[in-house]
Amino acid sequence: MVGAATDITERKRAEEALHEANRTLEERVAARTAELEEERNLLRTVIDTVPDFIYVKDRQRRMLLNNVAHARSLVARGDVDPLGKTDDELFPADMAAGFYADEEQLFLAGQSIKNREERTIGEDGGEIWALTTKVPLQNLRGEVIGLVGITKDITAIKTGAEALRASEERYRATIAAMSEGVVVQGTDGAIQLCNEAAERILGLTVDQMVGLTSIDPRWQAVHEDGSPFPGETHPAMVALRTGESQSDVVMGVHKPDGALTWILVNAQPLFHPGGSQPYAVVATFADITARKQAEQTLRQALAQEKELGELKSRFVTLASHEFRTPLAAILATTETLTNYWDRLDKPKIDDRLGRIRAQVAHMTSIMEDVLELARMQAGRVKYEPAPGDLDALCRAILTEYEDQADQGRRLIYECAQPPVLSVFDTRMLRQVIGNLVQNALKYSPESHPVWVTLVHDGEQITLRVQDEGIGIPPEDMKRLFETFHRAANVGAISGTGLGLSIAKQAVELHGGTIAVESALDRGTTFTVRLPRVE
Ligand code: ATP
Ligand code: MG
Repeated sequence: MVGAATDITERKRAEEALHEANRTLEERVAARTAELEEERNLLRTVIDTVPDFIYVKDRQRRMLLNNVAHARSLVARGDVDPLGKTDDELFPADMAAGFYADEEQLFLAGQSIKNREERTIGEDGGEIWALTTKVPLQNLRGEVIGLVGITKDITAIKTGAEALRASEERYRATIAAMSEGVVVQGTDGAIQLCNEAAERILGLTVDQMVGLTSIDPRWQAVHEDGSPFPGETHPAMVALRTGESQSDVVMGVHKPDGALTWILVNAQPLFHPGGSQPYAVVATFADITARKQAEQTLRQALAQEKELGELKSRFVTLASHEFRTPLAAILATTETLTNYWDRLDKPKIDDRLGRIRAQVAHMTSIMEDVLELARMQAGRVKYEPAPGDLDALCRAILTEYEDQADQGRRLIYECAQPPVLSVFDTRMLRQVIGNLVQNALKYSPESHPVWVTLVHDGEQITLRVQDEGIGIPPEDMKRLFETFHRAANVGAISGTGLGLSIAKQAVELHGGTIAVESALDRGTTFTVRLPRVE
């Protein structure tokens, strides 16, 4: 009995245990099912909440599942139930063909397609730009049974970027087409970019320019008066520092070849919205070198015009003074001749006629000087160099003075190494030497000697004319070689102020120089240096 009772009890217990086990399994299955349902719900909610299109297709590319956003886009095109349909039925032909090609590739290679930029249909049924990723979908055995796709609308980004690119393109084209130079400089003043005109105007390539600042010493910038233009005061640097735009600043900069270019600079600081400190500056500059040169030419022409005016008035003064005296003398002499003709003997008449001739000769020589100068200034003078002996020329000229009673004796001529052979224009050098000797005699007392020395080495000939005369006031030294200029201390000594300016031009035509040293009331030395031509 005990045994049977035990049996029953054990069976019961086993049944209960089985029952219990079944119950737990059912509960567990039910619980798991609920869990899965919840998970599915959650996933569904997630994929339906995402604004991107999410869809699953089988290997025949039939739509198995899609989220709300995707469904909405297809519904908007009139496909009330896209499930089970292929792209051929859902999309325009060219789009569907594109998708098909991609997916064919995906199935063949078993690889995902990531971030493909493509055209597709948007939520409102219109075409959009999208970024699509498609991944193969595998079953538990690892076989590819379809694909999962996710497509993101990037139309706004794309069109925004496109608009930005187009706008930038327009600005770039505008800047490139500008004849003015444009450079953009950062807060440190370094050039970040520049246009072609800037390259041309400044004579540097983009590569050479980028990174340079306005304070770089290579610009050797100058103001209009030629004084240095410190880099810190460059309009771009000022605009960066002060945040204020700078306009119409004229500056000269040196190109790498040394040429000076004049530019008119404007600088505009750039600010971020709401910012108070510029983050960059745009400097534009026009090449005004040609204008500057034109101004310079005009100024020179004006100066020449003015000089010509002065020359004319000086000539009038000269003519009235230098001509009136001999003319008055001629008139007086002719009157004497007319009135006393019958009372004068032949030697006296000859003497009067001789005086008239001398005055006429004097006037003629002044006229010749004036004409010679005019010819020289117009560049019409004939420079006719020929081989000759300068020593012989000096002797010939000095002999002419020896014939003049008082003058000849005080002329002392020295030439250490005759002959002095070279190539020169005899007529011109005769004028030069003649005038220097005449001046020395004229502006020094008759009791004092005048030295004329001629020396030469292989390359240079030096002619020196030295006197112990009235000298030249320091303030007149600078203008001595100007036409018609005479020093303040000439007193009654006659002269036109032409001799030295003719001499200077003649000497320069020979490639030489003329210099003067003088001490008031002590004497003057003129030194002519000429290159010796074999
Ligand atoms: P001309 O045209 O007849 O020669 P000029 O002698 O006055 O006239 P320049 O020979 O051109 O003219 O000389 C210019 C001026 O230079 C003179 O007027 C004189 O003031 C000064 N000068 C030239 N030579 C001497 C000299 N040896 N001593 C002092 N002054 C001189
Ligand atoms: Mg003279």
